[in-house]
Amino acid sequence: MEGQRAFDFKNHTHGVSTGTQWLESKGLTIASHSPVDGKYIGAVTSADKATYEAVMTKATAAFHEWRQWPAPRRGEIVRQMGEAFRANKTELGKLVSYEMGKSLQEGLGEVQEIIDICDFAVGLSRQLYGLTMHSERPSHRMYEQYHPLGIVGIISAFNFPVAVWSWNSMLAWVCGDVCVWKPSEKTPMCAVACQHIIAGVLEKNQVPEGVSCLVMGGKEVGEWMSDDVRVPLLSATGSTAMGRAVGVAVAKRMGRSLLELGGNNAVIISKQADLNMALMASVFGAVGTAGQRCTTTRRLIVHEAIYDSMKQKLVKAYGQLRIGNPLDAANHLGPLIDKAAVEGYVSAIAQCKREGGTFIVEGGVLEGEGFESGCYVKPCIAEVQNHYAVVQHETFAPILYLMKYKTVEEAIRMQNDVPQGLSSAMMTRDLREAELFLSSAGSDCGIANVNAGTSGAEIGGAFGGEKETGGGRESGSDAWKVYMRRQTNTINYATNLPMAQGITFDL
Ligand code: NAD
Repeated sequence: MEGQRAFDFKNHTHGVSTGTQWLESKGLTIASHSPVDGKYIGAVTSADKATYEAVMTKATAAFHEWRQWPAPRRGEIVRQMGEAFRANKTELGKLVSYEMGKSLQEGLGEVQEIIDICDFAVGLSRQLYGLTMHSERPSHRMYEQYHPLGIVGIISAFNFPVAVWSWNSMLAWVCGDVCVWKPSEKTPMCAVACQHIIAGVLEKNQVPEGVSCLVMGGKEVGEWMSDDVRVPLLSATGSTAMGRAVGVAVAKRMGRSLLELGGNNAVIISKQADLNMALMASVFGAVGTAGQRCTTTRRLIVHEAIYDSMKQKLVKAYGQLRIGNPLDAANHLGPLIDKAAVEGYVSAIAQCKREGGTFIVEGGVLEGEGFESGCYVKPCIAEVQNHYAVVQHETFAPILYLMKYKTVEEAIRMQNDVPQGLSSAMMTRDLREAELFLSSAGSDCGIANVNAGTSGAEIGGAFGGEKETGGGRESGSDAWKVYMRRQTNTINYATNLPMAQGITFDL
């Protein structure tokens, strides 16, 4: 199979690494099968307690050395990693597509995100700025600086099996931290491939062993990290249920967590919208990656004046979608990640019908030639009410919910009236509506777009969302600050000791 050619996993059985070295572990074996054709890709061992401890010891020692490397020198290592990913873009992109099931274009796009964040992080390595302040005391200087934190734990989800790791690790490395990555157990080979890709850079530059660690495993390994006081920052991407468990455990030990959880993203389509653009944004947003993006468009809130024509356009567009092997560029949608995800899709459709939803494009599981993995489903559309329990919940599959509105205020209320707060969009050419949507009385999401859909993001902005999406921000803008500890410094160059707030103290 195409994707397998990228990396030969036949002799690779280790799932625990400290950078260039792989550790023998007695943990459970995780086998990876492609959702594309159901075929076996490879298997790796999970971390057991002993290898986990060995990794954490190595990472702790590595941090003491790495934090003393000048930040621009750490940036140079990240620059070389970017070059390594450029050289392996096609092969890794194919593997991402084959192991996760997204289209080849999206697999390649995901590797491009790694390259982009490497470039961003290289520049950042010379811009880890703190502020200077004017002291209220004479002959005093005040400023702040950012220091490395320590071990950054990264727990990632299956749907972005490599990019999410890089959003965290590349920034963490230039900030002087070391990383311990627990990838999704559903996409272990993508993680193994990344570790192999950067190993040459680590070796050539004599980067301390332990700066880039991998601990394969399921939920229990994530739980060890959540409870581990040696991990001052745990960045966790995945479902809200996972984030709730991780957030509580990390808070209990006064650690810092960066949570990137589920979304329930809506596009508001105004009667002032360019309807062709609105259609493109909605269909791509709803069916791209087979509805398995955290930013997938799950709800369409359409003005009553254009509701019927939009509905017709959607039905026609869905009729043209091609479902099949995602490595074939002719197909728009690949499979869901596994049969459990298919069950989730089937039960959400049944629940939607029970709650009163009407399907204008019917769903269903595909069978027969080309669909042997049992993971291919039809994208579908249901007319619903926003308050249905199924609409309030994120189902990680291509089910689009269609709703009608009368006033822009009502549309914004509906858009906000869900527990999640990741991405949102309004399609309109009306300046007043657009500005209202982006104002403090508008969208309550971490991402709000006008005339661009909910799905996907550029690395330059801070990425993340509010409410049950977890509140974390990673990637661009000043997201780097969470990977460092801020220290405020006061230097007195006077010959006496004036106190703040004019307090006097005489002996
Ligand atoms: P998941 O929650 O099942 O698993 C994600 C990761 O968390 C895996 O590595 C898993 O092993 C680990 N994990 C699960 N339970 C844990 C626990 N109790 N303690 C510690 N670790 C635990 O999610 P998934 O099915 O892999 O991914 C889909 C979900 O991820 C969707 O909800 C999607 O919206 C979300 N997601 C969010 C973003 C974002 O940036 N907001 C990005 C990608 C995916």
